[in-house]
Amino acid sequence: MPQKTRFNSLRKSADNPICRPLIIPIFIPQAGCPHQCVFCNQRTITGIEARIPSRTAIVQCVESFLSHSSANRSPVEIAFYGGNFLGLSSDTIDFLLDVVRPFVEQARVQSLRCSTRPDSISPETIDRLTGFPFSTIEIGVQSMDDAVLNLSQRGHTGQDNTSAIALVKAGGYRVGAQLMIGLPGDSKTRAVETATRISDMLPDFVRIYPTVVLKGSLLAKWFAAGHYSPLNLHHAIDQAKAMMRVFQRHQIPVIRMGLQPTECLMQPGEILAGPFHPAFGFLVVASHFKDMACDILDGCAHIPPHIQIHVNPRNDSAMRGHKNETIHALKQRYPLHHIDVILDNSLSAGHIRIMSGDGSVLHSV
Ligand code: SF4
Repeated sequence: MPQKTRFNSLRKSADNPICRPLIIPIFIPQAGCPHQCVFCNQRTITGIEARIPSRTAIVQCVESFLSHSSANRSPVEIAFYGGNFLGLSSDTIDFLLDVVRPFVEQARVQSLRCSTRPDSISPETIDRLTGFPFSTIEIGVQSMDDAVLNLSQRGHTGQDNTSAIALVKAGGYRVGAQLMIGLPGDSKTRAVETATRISDMLPDFVRIYPTVVLKGSLLAKWFAAGHYSPLNLHHAIDQAKAMMRVFQRHQIPVIRMGLQPTECLMQPGEILAGPFHPAFGFLVVASHFKDMACDILDGCAHIPPHIQIHVNPRNDSAMRGHKNETIHALKQRYPLHHIDVILDNSLSAGHIRIMSGDGSVLHSV
């Protein structure tokens, strides 16, 4: 198969819903970054590529993932995360790609992905990926609002985000947009505006991260001085939910909401403040399901005392909420004595239908 055709098919295989990809992260913390963004907790090491793992460390990491993962995970992808991959020097990129080359040549790894800053994406930097099976480029968009980007000392504009997404798409790569809520100067209105503008560009997926105050970040100093207040958990859930709904309307997958609760992050004193929750994404989705139920019940002239809420089996826990919290809340808010959650394969994931106990449909969304 010609190389370009083979790589294109790899990019498409990532869309196959029956395949569960195995992503092997190689972290290059803050490597390639021109400066330190206010919310980042890594100190800048100017001109020193010390945050690039050694050849041995990378090989050990990949081998470890390959040996501990089930055989049916496909495609296997190596991901360069945590830094600005396309901002690295050519020598460093060549080094990293040289280390992973044997895994690709032996077909033990099918594709590569990286995260990078939008202002590091250009036709020239994208060209550096040629000859390697890169499937996906994730872009640290954070916000489309120039004031928010400026206050966060990102060093790029919303227009840079737009250009970067267009370039990555034109190159035939899958594009992911990494977004943040609760940055300095941000608001729910601005977050929804960001989601709307990003949706118009049709990325393949997005991630939404709430801003937390990390030890060692500039934001930590601002927080200590009273110049920055993070969102509380309630408002963070509300904003992420509002953005998620925009992406849902455009059928753009939101593949992650909330920071990964890594061992390092969970150490006492690493997160000084902010809406961190290990199950943040679940809380957002559960809140969305609760809202859908409330919208239906609010529109009912007469609410029967016994209702059934039908959901796709995948949405059982999202409908119930943590420890059945949503069911308890609905019973408190409405004159309901009994609520059954019925798992119903005839409903698509993300939808609910509420029926009265006697089987008549109240409403579906
Ligand atoms: S570009 Fe990303 S990794 Fe680099 S300093 Fe900013 S937030 Fe941190």
